[in-house]
Amino acid sequence: MSVKCQVIMDAMDTLAPRYLAESWDNVGLLVGSPAQTVAKIMICLDVSEEIVQRAIAQHVDMIISHHPLIFKPFKNLRTDLAQGRLLAELLKANIAVYAAHTNLDTATGGVNDVLAQKLNLHKIEPLTISYQEELIKLVVFVPIEYASLVQEAIGKAGAGHIGNYSHCSFQVAGKGSFLPLQGTKPFIGKQGELESVGEVRIETIMPQKIINKVVKAMLKVHPYEEVAYDLYPLKNTGEKNGLGRIGQLEEPMQAEEFANKAKLALDIANVRLVGEKHKMIKKVALCSGSGAEFIGKAAYAGADILVTGDVKYHEAQKALECGIDLLDAGHFGTEMPIVKTVAEYLEQCNAKGKWNVDISYDTLSKDLFTTI
Ligand SMILES: [Zn+2]
Repeated sequence: MSVKCQVIMDAMDTLAPRYLAESWDNVGLLVGSPAQTVAKIMICLDVSEEIVQRAIAQHVDMIISHHPLIFKPFKNLRTDLAQGRLLAELLKANIAVYAAHTNLDTATGGVNDVLAQKLNLHKIEPLTISYQEELIKLVVFVPIEYASLVQEAIGKAGAGHIGNYSHCSFQVAGKGSFLPLQGTKPFIGKQGELESVGEVRIETIMPQKIINKVVKAMLKVHPYEEVAYDLYPLKNTGEKNGLGRIGQLEEPMQAEEFANKAKLALDIANVRLVGEKHKMIKKVALCSGSGAEFIGKAAYAGADILVTGDVKYHEAQKALECGIDLLDAGHFGTEMPIVKTVAEYLEQCNAKGKWNVDISYDTLSKDLFTTI
């Protein structure tokens, strides 16, 4: 069996919403069409020549990668150059390519959270804040006998979530009045007669992203032909998220021991430690891929060590100046674990949506660096 590519795109957007991506990034469907059918998916870190050849040989219909295959705008599509050749092969084989990059880094349960779990961190929080959910207040006027029905419908659609409480709302009774004009079919009252009805004002709060769902659910059960409701933008914000994480180890340990544990957990051949080997580590900051730019932030947040990849000499120097250790576990090493997580997530969607799609993930690609 198969599903439309759009179905997979929607599922990926639920895991890693595209609005979480950094402004410089290029995520989403990069090759192919949302309308094409997908029966086989392969998940990987990079759309390399090797991955494309494997995808073609295994009749894969869609590749989902962490790093975007198309990043900078290109001025030609030459098949004698690597990128043009890959794109030509993908198009010829009708393989769609989707990228979830910084949106997957930032997303709850994404690359950074997976890395934090691998490192056995607790009390995990974002290291940086690049996204704050906008909140909206919904106010709707309902005839008294329909109040509980409307209240239930908007709660079920997700409105009224405050902390660990759902269906939060406030009601106050009052009097609504209206004059049905020509052409109306009023639920209460008659055309041309000023009507006065006992109504309830229901107010609740919701994230911007579910407005359409909540309003649709509210209109479905509201008895009036023309529903009076207001949507207010609020200054309070909801969920906050960003790149990197900071958390704590259950038990403090020496930097060297922590480095060895990280090596094992991430299944990598070697790591590079900057700083004192015997320093006690309790608070750990991390940023998957290339996160040395957050050395200052991690030190300011009180972290004893920052785990990341792609660390340069002068960045190591800066870490020492800031009094924080650095663990370079490699770009590949800190990001590769997400490939399996995305596959497991899509397998759950597969079972739930009865897609019957074949899902595999890359286990063969190796780090580009070999230590001799
Ligand atoms: Zn990366």
